[in-house]
Amino acid sequence: MTKATKHVYFFGAGKADGRADMKELLGGKGANLAEMVNLGIPVPAGFTITTGVCTYYYEHGRRYPKALPAQVGAAMARIEKIMGKKFGDPSDPLLVSCRSGARASMPSMMETVLNIGLTSATIPGLIALTGNARFVWDAYRRLIMMYSDVVMEKAAGLEPAEDQGVRKQLERVMDQVKRQVGAKVDTDLGADQLETLCQQFRAKVQQVIGKPFPDDPQEQLWGAVGAVFQSWNGKRAISYRRIEGIPDFWGTATNVQAMVFGNMGADSATGVAFTRNPATGEDAFFGEWLTNAQGEDVVAGIRTPNPLNVATKSEHTEHLKSLEEAMPAVYARLVAIRNRLERHYRDMQDIEFTIERGKLWMLQTRTGKRTGTAAVRMAVEMMRDKLIRKEAAVTRVTPAQLDELLHRILDPKAEKVARVLAKGLPAGPGGAAGRLVFTAPDAVAWAERGEPVVLCREETNPEDVEGMRAAAAILTARGGMTSHAALVARGWGKCCIVGCGALHVSAQDKTVSVSSQTLAEGDWVSLNGSRGILYQGKLATVDPDPENPMLVEFLAACDKVRRLGVRANADSPKDAAIARKFGAAGIGLLRTEHMFYGEGADQPLFLLRKMILSNTPEERRAACAELYPFVKADLKGTLAAMDGLPVTIRLLDPPLHEFVPQDEAKQKELAQALGITLQDVRNRAEGLHESNPMMGHRGVRLGVTYPEVSEMQVRAILEAAAELRAEGKKALPEIMIPVTCTVNELKDQQALIGKVKAEVMKKFGLKRLDFLVGTMIEIPRAALTANRMAEVAEFFSFGTNDMTQMGFGFSRDDIGSFMPAYLKDRDENDQKITPILPADPFQTLDIEGVGELVRMGIERGRATRPNLKVGICGEHGGDPASIHFCHQVGMNYVSCSPFRVPIARLAAAQIAVKDAPKKPAKKRTRKAGKSKK
Ligand code: PEP
Ligand code: MG
Repeated sequence: MTKATKHVYFFGAGKADGRADMKELLGGKGANLAEMVNLGIPVPAGFTITTGVCTYYYEHGRRYPKALPAQVGAAMARIEKIMGKKFGDPSDPLLVSCRSGARASMPSMMETVLNIGLTSATIPGLIALTGNARFVWDAYRRLIMMYSDVVMEKAAGLEPAEDQGVRKQLERVMDQVKRQVGAKVDTDLGADQLETLCQQFRAKVQQVIGKPFPDDPQEQLWGAVGAVFQSWNGKRAISYRRIEGIPDFWGTATNVQAMVFGNMGADSATGVAFTRNPATGEDAFFGEWLTNAQGEDVVAGIRTPNPLNVATKSEHTEHLKSLEEAMPAVYARLVAIRNRLERHYRDMQDIEFTIERGKLWMLQTRTGKRTGTAAVRMAVEMMRDKLIRKEAAVTRVTPAQLDELLHRILDPKAEKVARVLAKGLPAGPGGAAGRLVFTAPDAVAWAERGEPVVLCREETNPEDVEGMRAAAAILTARGGMTSHAALVARGWGKCCIVGCGALHVSAQDKTVSVSSQTLAEGDWVSLNGSRGILYQGKLATVDPDPENPMLVEFLAACDKVRRLGVRANADSPKDAAIARKFGAAGIGLLRTEHMFYGEGADQPLFLLRKMILSNTPEERRAACAELYPFVKADLKGTLAAMDGLPVTIRLLDPPLHEFVPQDEAKQKELAQALGITLQDVRNRAEGLHESNPMMGHRGVRLGVTYPEVSEMQVRAILEAAAELRAEGKKALPEIMIPVTCTVNELKDQQALIGKVKAEVMKKFGLKRLDFLVGTMIEIPRAALTANRMAEVAEFFSFGTNDMTQMGFGFSRDDIGSFMPAYLKDRDENDQKITPILPADPFQTLDIEGVGELVRMGIERGRATRPNLKVGICGEHGGDPASIHFCHQVGMNYVSCSPFRVPIARLAAAQIAVKDAPKKPAKKRTRKAGKSKK
């Protein structure tokens, strides 16, 4: 940092050095104060010490740059000139405030010290000048409270015992005085009483901190500035940054500003407001104010604040006077500023104001935080009013906010006070409360009695699926984001937490223990599946509105902006209907095996088992023939539901042992039904056993070894399509071959498909039968040889679940034992460390490694077949960060669970806006392979 570096940015009297777009340097607060001054809005004069000084301070052993004191001195002189008062002047003292202000709002670290400059020398002068001793002593007691807490205790690193902090102790002194004199509220204390209180305060500070309260204005000023910089590395700020993902290097700015007083009497007031309602999004000016008070009183909850205007009075505030009624002229000025700010910022603002003897001053404006409902409504209404364009509107709602509108969630108010039992992976969205059950049959039985249940398992397997369906939520101790429970729950949009390592589940005892507590069957728990938090007890829930017209309009704007298509992973006509409702442009993955589980699956599952237990190709062919009508009917139903939209149907993928019952009773039952011995079943089950099933006899390997199985499925797909065509429907099947690693596997299956196609065309007398043949790219070798794969494949769909598993060599079902250690970003002393992995790669695509395979696969594939259609159907297809990557590598579509389709539409729109060239060409021709299908 050289001498010429500008550390201090001044604002006041209609002119400011900074601007709103200088948040990096001036912090949000400083930049917006400067902007308001430039807009001609009344703001008390002040200056911002830059975030660069904060960085310097930490890089140089907590020292300031040499030039800082002089620059601060000059800026103070300018404030003095504008305000016509001098800092420390015994006859007419200037008082200032000192506030932190980082780039992003950090409510839990905001350190504020008001009334700096009050000393034994300046107090008498200010009393004489204002003729209001009560006001001055009240300001002084506030200074002592804030300063001793923020500067003398927190910034000095003192850590008092619970309830023994200096602020708490001073509050107790004040309460005692109030009791003694019979004062109900702070404002009941008179000047003399406050003066005595201040003396007691100073004595208490000396006693608690062991130092006198500083009586020199410069010492107070620099103490406060230092405390703000110190607060950047305070515990609260660090943990807030961790939660919000704010980088440590940003630093905070410090704002020093002339004080204006809302506590100068009945014509003074202070308030906070939102330019629109932050809970509902309604275009109504909404806020709270208090007469004769300083800012902190409104938020501190000591006095009940009054409503800002008549229109926003509630049943609790009906009897209180609004600012509109009490000070109509000031209110009108505030409304004009509100309108000016909204027009200028084109977004809802959260503002703070103070009225000093009838004059209105603005102390802050910033973009206001809002609920998901409010975010969508504001975006839509501002777009309708042409305040913003659709490109801006789509950036106004975060994926998490959109999620709030799509699922039943736990009531946020209830969540705030609930007891957290454990944390796990947020595998299925929304919130649910239910009674604990530990087996799938119990879940079904309890649900039939009308009890909402949470199915708690060590981990789930396909046999649990009915219980999972019946449960209100699913909870597992093991498993990652692509484990069975996670995939199934997400597919249904069901609330689910997996990998909750703190749980010790005993299905036998029907208990779960967590942190020295044991919960039994029937106990109530509540889950926040969007955040992975398990709570004790029954929390209230809030339902979404499925027909929300604002949401429909908002998503339509997203669709106009995005380039990436969005499909759904759906396996049944019911899921297909949901997918369509959520705006999917097709099915990107239909996992055929799902027809063998769940409701109505008994007979097809039996026939599949029969096929699996066949000993010869003839037997297998006969079993396939029996199974055929079920498969065809199932696929036909889904193709019909998706009429006119493409449906990617994957040939059978899982290793077959998954379908054979493992427990003896079920094996016996099967043996009986098939007319074979239990030993036969056991032998076959053993024969199917594999050490590494996910890398074993599965995917296309099944098709190569049992061509009759592929044949049966292909015939079912093509005949279903031909029949639908005859019925006047448009079926667009895409046959997808899974787990391929060489083009020769594709050639093998292609020959078989060609044969069946000819037979079906002949049978139906068709001249043409349109469908595509493609492959999943989920094995690294397939990506590396994508140029060869594309010789046969007309489309690629990246199966990033398996590709992550094989790229990393991590078992996708079993990462709970080490993943927390890989994601750990704090050491035992809570110091920041670089985690081994930046995120769970089964949740967010690992761009550096697996992403490189994807990128290479697309490039090589399109080198052979330029119009190769490319999508993704791994779980990453519903993850916003991964979707951004998919857009950037030029995929045609992403495919995700139906319930995540709206999130994907939003994420695709947001990345399209972010990556758009500054000035888009007027006319765009759509390139081959870039359609939204
Ligand atoms: C994948 O591997 O990414 C995929 C979609 O297939 P599955 O999860 O069914 O293995
Ligand atoms: Mg796979």
